[in-house]
Amino acid sequence: MARHRDRQPRRYPRLTHPLVRNPASGELRRVEPGMEVRTDTERARHSRKVVLELLASSVDMSTTPRAAEWIEEYGAEPGRFGPDAARVDEEPKIDNDLYVRDYDKCVLCYKCVDACGEQWQNTFAIAVAGRGFDARISTEHDAPLTDSACVYCGNCIEVCPTGALGFRSEFDMRAAGTWDESAQTRTTTVCAYCGVGCNLTLHVQDNEIVKVTSPHDNPVTHGNLCIKGRFGYQHVQDRD
Ligand code: SF4
Ligand code: SF4
Repeated sequence: MARHRDRQPRRYPRLTHPLVRNPASGELRRVEPGMEVRTDTERARHSRKVVLELLASSVDMSTTPRAAEWIEEYGAEPGRFGPDAARVDEEPKIDNDLYVRDYDKCVLCYKCVDACGEQWQNTFAIAVAGRGFDARISTEHDAPLTDSACVYCGNCIEVCPTGALGFRSEFDMRAAGTWDESAQTRTTTVCAYCGVGCNLTLHVQDNEIVKVTSPHDNPVTHGNLCIKGRFGYQHVQDRD
């Protein structure tokens, strides 16, 4: 969930490697040759179950791939904390035509912060604000994206594991009940805007491009794009 090629995780949402975490300090350590790592012990499974319960009781995991499957597999009961369990509970931030921030679904993995910051984009438009249950991903002074340093590369969307960051097109289609991944094709091509040669994967439904991603194994861009490659596709389907 927290891992991504070519990006060093700063923080794990605790589901992934319970036995390479120092139980006393909470510190994570790298897996090394010769190390014995047990990932399916009773203790590890119990740890995952509780973490799933904590996550699913506090945020909306409806668009997190495989979350429902894991909840069933580990017998997690997010409802056991009762109706008064603290939730993030905030409305989606819709302040531009390109992408939506729905922090009701955010598990605070910080992948978007790292992608926007020194690991990829070096724009630093978003960071973690607040502490404890008030911790959240935010622009400077919680400004709308349109008033922030964001350059709309969408590289934060590319790494978000839960759907908290998503394309406006997908958000609107989900709201209208027309989003259907099973009816979509994916075609990888080369961006024609400049000479770098970034690969674009076009997600097409009903003969319309509904979003653009980029293959993470591309040796040039590793899944990163700029605003033009990520969002500049409307002219392709302007049929007037
Ligand atoms: S779209 Fe790009 S610049 Fe804007 S917040 Fe996301 S990673 Fe940062
Ligand atoms: S918005 Fe997505 S990528 Fe960013 S911290 Fe939340 S879950 Fe992680």
